[in-house]
Amino acid sequence: MTGSLTIVGLGPGTADWITPAAQAALDIATDIVGYGPYVDRVPERAGLTKHASDNRVEVERASHALQLAAEGRTVAVVSGGDPGVFAMAAAVFEALEAGEPGWRAIPITVEPGITAMLAAAARAGAPLGGDFCAISLSDNLKPWEVVTARLEAALAADFVICLYNPISKARPWQLGKALELAAQCREGRTPVLFARAVGRPDENLRILTLTEAVAAADTADMATLVMIGASSTRLIARGAEQPYVYTPRSVTKSPCVTSQGRT
Ligand code: SAH
Repeated sequence: MTGSLTIVGLGPGTADWITPAAQAALDIATDIVGYGPYVDRVPERAGLTKHASDNRVEVERASHALQLAAEGRTVAVVSGGDPGVFAMAAAVFEALEAGEPGWRAIPITVEPGITAMLAAAARAGAPLGGDFCAISLSDNLKPWEVVTARLEAALAADFVICLYNPISKARPWQLGKALELAAQCREGRTPVLFARAVGRPDENLRILTLTEAVAAADTADMATLVMIGASSTRLIARGAEQPYVYTPRSVTKSPCVTSQGRT
């Protein structure tokens, strides 16, 4: 008997930001599979078995989830934010591609969630009003040269750049390097957002200039989303309150600069 597998986005933290469809998938699940802190966010109830695992074992975790579904269970694999953004959905499909042919008969659904950059943008104003991109700064799954090549291309194209996985104990210097690279291409007064733990009780949003951000790189952590403004990204002051950050929807000039100079 084949069960089913739903890959569920839990959003950035608060239960208000879980979609009704994601909640419905959690409500009918017999098994919850995921990284410990995300599994902990699903309340216990009769008939629900939780399978929490460590970080960095995504494909093993995904194979386990597929196996449970193949045995007839109704499985929910949980991710923070959106499960398709640097998260478990790709790990499930990686396990499916390499795994038992029988697993391909399992009905698999992806339930989207609010990804960190959208939550951070909503808190700040409208920094993603123009074109933007997302880059994971982690070089666990790709060489650092690939990260810098993509960063340079994004800087040259004047995208707003959202950096996921900016820094960790094992990767202490990468964010500093990325911001230094940005400072070679963008003006020092460009707004940079350090959005930490958005949607959680310890949420903290800091709006810095690029110059300040370079100096403050080591104050970010793994719960931080870093957003580097484009050349048109600006602030709207409002007295003692934190300013709004926004990027206009229209672009009138081509301000592309590279680390080699203006193009
Ligand atoms: N699937 C997740 C991203 C996983 S990668 C999503 O869609 O949001 C993990 C990175 O996401 C973290 O290092 C951090 O950069 C970012 N992140 C996740 N949750 C966050 C939150 N609540 N606030 C700020 N950044 C967050």
